Amino acid sequence: MLIMTLLGLGLTTGLHGSGCVPADLNGDEVVDGEDLGLLLANWAGTNPQFDINEDGVIDGEDLGILLASWGPSRIQSGVFPGSWINGASCSSEPDIQVHRYNDDFWILRQSLCTNFEAPFIYLLFGQDKVLMQDTGAGGIDISGAVYDVIDSWLQANGKESIELIVSHSHGHGDHVAGDGQFQGQPDTTVVGLNSSSVASFFGVRDWPEQIVEYDLGDRIIDVIPIPGHQSAHVALYDRRTGILFTGDTLYPGRLYISNFSQYTTSIQRLVEFTTDKPTCHVLGTHIEMSNTPGDDYPFGATHHPDEHPIQLGREHLVELYEALLAMGSNPVYEVHDDFIIYPLGAMASTDGCCDRPTTVFEFKRLHRRRMELERQARSRQR
Ligand SMILES: [Zn+2]
Repeated sequence: MLIMTLLGLGLTTGLHGSGCVPADLNGDEVVDGEDLGLLLANWAGTNPQFDINEDGVIDGEDLGILLASWGPSRIQSGVFPGSWINGASCSSEPDIQVHRYNDDFWILRQSLCTNFEAPFIYLLFGQDKVLMQDTGAGGIDISGAVYDVIDSWLQANGKESIELIVSHSHGHGDHVAGDGQFQGQPDTTVVGLNSSSVASFFGVRDWPEQIVEYDLGDRIIDVIPIPGHQSAHVALYDRRTGILFTGDTLYPGRLYISNFSQYTTSIQRLVEFTTDKPTCHVLGTHIEMSNTPGDDYPFGATHHPDEHPIQLGREHLVELYEALLAMGSNPVYEVHDDFIIYPLGAMASTDGCCDRPTTVFEFKRLHRRRMELERQARSRQR
């Protein structure tokens, strides 16, 4: 029943009317003769509902994708909570919300009460390794929470130990602050922060063009370099759940872009990579918007009433890519229903502002300075 609900959502968001497997044209969780019949009935047409690779025509390429995904969907589904801890009650909310999406995929959300960035942290279990993406914004016992999840997974799977790989969506402070809690721990490897460390760990020889596979043991993760927000940014694609992890590059909030042309190329890389793959959810690392389309919380807010869900879909990736292309060489601030394009440093010429930051670090430094000045002004008034 839940799956039908999810498929229904897919329908309303325009994903070929079929949930997350593009070639499953009638959405019945199996790619078979019925889907082939639908494709052939629309052959050489342009109906986007049957245009699997979204290139404007239903042709042999779509047939190829359909045949390659023939058979029952092998995607493992899971559930999201109705809402996340959102800073509404700091006396009662835990420092970290630990959520089981399914047996082998866990989602952790750091409390807004501990840090306004409130990042998400992901744990993907294979047979030999568990991959942890990011370590949070600091000030919390993240390793305690993570090793607890690992212990319960080991018990459920009758295993003695598993290797923990701590890697990062990117190198910004709000995603790496807990690294020290893992360094030197048994069965634990912490991947370095700059692009060359990330590239050498995952075996990327041609950064950022090359996409590589990383095997957790019967679970392949595709590692996709996507610089633009930050130079060492990577996306992960989990073939088992069909989830694309986009870090700070795409999430329901302000997408700070440090290098616009790199960022656009990275989004193009993600669009192309996912063209022929099931993309059930797109998961970033923050929520900064409410359920009201286009509405973001003030920067630094520690309470998020009526928060937007963390999960986006491939249609958002495509919407973002088309918006970036339309901007061409003139990047501008642009509010969409479910994300906000925020090119750093690029807006001085359009809005006449004098101190537009050019990096995320600078943005946050300027913000802190403004907050401090406001605080001083308030205390002078008293
Ligand atoms: Zn971040």
